Amino acid sequence: MADFIQLLPDHVANQIAAGEVVQRPASVVKELLENAIDADATEIILVLKDSGKTLVQVTDNGKGMSTTDARLCFERHATSKIKSAEDLFNLHTKGFRGEALASIAAIAHVELKTKMEGEDVGTRILIEGSEVMAQEVAVLPKGTTIAVKNLFYNIPARRNFLKSNPVETRHIIDEFHRVALAHPKVNFRMVHNGNDVFHLSESNLRQRIVSIFGGKTNEKLVPVSEETDIVKVHGFVLKPEYAKKSRGEQFFFVNDRFIKSPYLHHAVLSAFDGLVKSDHYPGYFLFLAVAPHAIDINIHPTKTEVKFEEEHAIYAMLLATVKHSLGQFSIAPVLDFERDASFETPYGYSKKSPVLPVVEVDKDYNPFKNSGTKKSAFRKESKEVWESLCVGLKDDDEDSLSITHNFAVESDEVTGKLFDDGTNALGKVTFQLQQKYIVTSIKSGLMIIHQNLAHQRILYEDLLKSITVQEAVSQQLLFPLSLSFTKPEMTILLSLKEQLEHAGFVFSTLKTKQLEITGIPVGVTESKVSTILEQLLADFEREVPDAGFNQNDLLAKSLAKSMAIKTGAVLEPEAQEHLIHQLFACKEPSFSPDQKRVLITMDVNDFDKKFA
Ligand code: ADP
Ligand code: MG
Repeated sequence: MADFIQLLPDHVANQIAAGEVVQRPASVVKELLENAIDADATEIILVLKDSGKTLVQVTDNGKGMSTTDARLCFERHATSKIKSAEDLFNLHTKGFRGEALASIAAIAHVELKTKMEGEDVGTRILIEGSEVMAQEVAVLPKGTTIAVKNLFYNIPARRNFLKSNPVETRHIIDEFHRVALAHPKVNFRMVHNGNDVFHLSESNLRQRIVSIFGGKTNEKLVPVSEETDIVKVHGFVLKPEYAKKSRGEQFFFVNDRFIKSPYLHHAVLSAFDGLVKSDHYPGYFLFLAVAPHAIDINIHPTKTEVKFEEEHAIYAMLLATVKHSLGQFSIAPVLDFERDASFETPYGYSKKSPVLPVVEVDKDYNPFKNSGTKKSAFRKESKEVWESLCVGLKDDDEDSLSITHNFAVESDEVTGKLFDDGTNALGKVTFQLQQKYIVTSIKSGLMIIHQNLAHQRILYEDLLKSITVQEAVSQQLLFPLSLSFTKPEMTILLSLKEQLEHAGFVFSTLKTKQLEITGIPVGVTESKVSTILEQLLADFEREVPDAGFNQNDLLAKSLAKSMAIKTGAVLEPEAQEHLIHQLFACKEPSFSPDQKRVLITMDVNDFDKKFA
C-alpha cells in the first residue's frame, strides 16, 4: 500500500507559520521594533515605503549579532531569549518564540546588516523566501539593520488581501505608538516615503505621550500610581471631559508590553462610570508591572493578549486606583471630595501598611446649600456624606428644625443622638410615601429617595462585585427548581453560567432545554426565579454585548432590576433605614444603574419661599 503522509518542505512550513505572525506590514514593524528593544537599543529608526508594502526597515544601535547568530536568527525556533520551557515563565524580553525572523524571511526579501560592539567588521546577509542568497563580511556601525522588502511577494493571495495604503499606515502607526510609548527612554524616528513622520527624543512618559499626541494632551493627563504586593500601576488617564465617541487612546502595558484586555478595560471604564457618557470612551495610558511568572503571554501568537494569575484582584485594584486618581485631582465637580481608595477597594489581598487618609471632612459642610452642587454631593464616601447631612439636626437653627419636627416621631433630642450610636435611630425621622418614596429629613431640609431605583443601585453594585471579584453567598433550595427554556435561551444561559454562579445561583443540571436550580442568591424568593431569568434573557436578546466585560455589567443591571424592591412594597421603618444606609454605602448613590435619578433633596429655603 502506498504511503500518503509527506513532510512539508521547510520553506512551505515557514510560509504557513508566517501567516500566524505576519498579517500585514504592521506585524513586521512590531516584530522588528521589539527585537531592537530587546537588543537594548537606545536609537531606533523605522523607514517605510508604500505603507510598508515595498519596504519596512528598522535600524538600531543595539548589541548586534555575531556572524553565526546572524545566520541562525532566520531559523525557526532560533532565539537567544529562552533555553528551556521554564524560561517561558520568567520572561523579561518581548520576543521568545524565535519565529518572527524565520517567518518574515519566508515571505519577503530580507537584508540583514549587523555588527557587535568591539568587532571590526560585521555581517550582511540576503535572504529570499527562506533561502540565503548571499552572505558577506561588511564594514558597519554597531547595531543591526533589517530591511524587509516586497512583503508576501511569493503569496499573491496575501498581498492582494492587504488594505489601502492609509489603512496599512494606520496599523503601522498604531504599532509604532505602542512600542514608543512603552519605551520613552529610547529615541525613535519614523520616516515614510522620505518624510519624517515622528521624531521622538529620549524623555519621560508624560513627554512621550505629549510628543506623540500633541501639545494639548498635557493638560488632559491625570497621573495614576499605586503599588500592591501583586501589581504596580503607573501612568495616566485622560480627564473625563476628553472622552471620545470613538475608541482612541487606550493603552495597557504589562511589563512594558502593549496588551489588549477587555476585562481590564472594563475596570477603567467603571472607574469613569457616571463621569463620561455611556457611548464615550475615556483615554488611558496605564502601565502594570507584575512578576513575570504571574502572567502567561504565550496564549496569543502575536502576544497582545495575556492571562493574569490574579485577574480579579488586578481588576479591583485598577478600578479603585483610577477612581482615586480622578477624585484626587478634582477632575469634575462630582468628585470634589478627596477619597481614600481603600474605602472602595473590595479586595482583601492588599497587605500594604495602611496609610492614613488625608480626607478633610468639614462636618458642617452642607452640600445642599448651594443648589449648583446638588447633583454632585453624593459621590463622597457614603457614610461621611450621610453623616454630614444629618449632623446639626440637633443643634441647627430653629427653622430647619421645625421641618424635622413635622416628620419626626420623636423630639430633636432623639434625632440628636442619630449618629452617636449611629445604628437604628434613622427610622425615627424617616417615613414611606405612597409605597414608592422614602422621605427622610436631612440637615438642610428633606431628602426623597425612590425606593425601587435606590435598591437597584445597591443590588447592582453588590452583584457586579460578586460577579467580578468575589462570589456571593447563595441560599439552598429545599427542593430543586426545574425550569424549561428554548434552545437559544439555554445557549444564552450557558454562556452566563459562571457569572450567574458568582451571583449566587447554583445549577445542578444545565442541559439543552432543561435547567435545574438548587441554590439562589440571598434576597431572591423561589417564586421569582423564573421571572428573573426570563427578564435576563429578554435583556440579553435585545442587547448583544460584545466581549465578556459588557456581559457582567448587563447581567448585574438586569438582575438588579428584577430583584429590586418594587413600587408598592411596604417597607417597615427598619427596612427604610437599612435601605438608606446601604444606598449611602454605594459608590454612586445618586443614580440608578440606568442613570436615573435615585433621590432628590429639598432645601428649607425653598419651603420658606413658598410660604413667603
Ligand atoms: P525572538 O525575538 O522571539 O527570539 P526573532 O525571530 O524575532 O525571535 O529573533 C531571533 C533572534 O535573533 C533573537 O532571539 C535575537 O537573538 C536575534 N535578533 C533579532 N533581531 C535582533 C536585533 N535587532 N539585534 C540583535 N539581535 C537580534
Ligand atoms: Mg522577536
